[in-house]
Amino acid sequence: MRYGILGDIHGNLSALRAVLAALEKDGVDRFLSVGDVVGYGAAPRDCIALLREIGATVVKGNHDAACVGELDVMYFNNYARAAVRWTQDVLTKSDSKWLAALPLIANLEHASVAHGTYHRPELFDYVQSTTDADPSLDALQLPVCFVGHTHYPVTLLRLRDDPVRTSYTEDCEVDLSESHRALINVGSVGQPRDEDPRAAYAVFDSERERVWIQRVEYDIEREADRIRSAGLPHALAERLYLGV
Ligand code: ZN
Repeated sequence: MRYGILGDIHGNLSALRAVLAALEKDGVDRFLSVGDVVGYGAAPRDCIALLREIGATVVKGNHDAACVGELDVMYFNNYARAAVRWTQDVLTKSDSKWLAALPLIANLEHASVAHGTYHRPELFDYVQSTTDADPSLDALQLPVCFVGHTHYPVTLLRLRDDPVRTSYTEDCEVDLSESHRALINVGSVGQPRDEDPRAAYAVFDSERERVWIQRVEYDIEREADRIRSAGLPHALAERLYLGV
């Protein structure tokens, strides 16, 4: 099975379309999303509609939870809070119902999906080190789990011949054949923060036991214009050009 994995889309329709077009060429059978479908960007409804159309398996991110009133925006910075309020105003009842019904984790045939951590997904904690990854790696029921949340692509893994030591790699192609367990952050489709403004996504081939983190250019100008004309903070448009 070949999976296409979408991280942190954040209402960026041009980026999502570019990634889906690239994934069509990659020949994937199934789509997964690690959550944060909405928040920051100005096209949350179109992004939800596209994910529903392709039958993606989607888990709930902190912005998704905040936009349906399940998470206090007090913990969000000013820009994120403004975006949550704006998003709440434009979502239809059907969109909100769909977001609210998203699970916090999904365990599929070959991989699991979560937003921040696997062991306590409801806390939306950030995995920024091998130590942060340990409780999730300990709790995994399958050898591979895809996450997002930091918007920074990285693979944290334990090898079969040394299953107690956690290491990491920022390689774009990861061979999982020697891996015991792996927590893979697929980066962000709609708001990359690793100083590469191109949309990030991943392809996982379960038979070949391989993951590729890929990048694709999209029309940033168009999406930045959409953000500015929606009345969202202009800083949310500017950061897209920089990938921060
Ligand atoms: Zn996010």
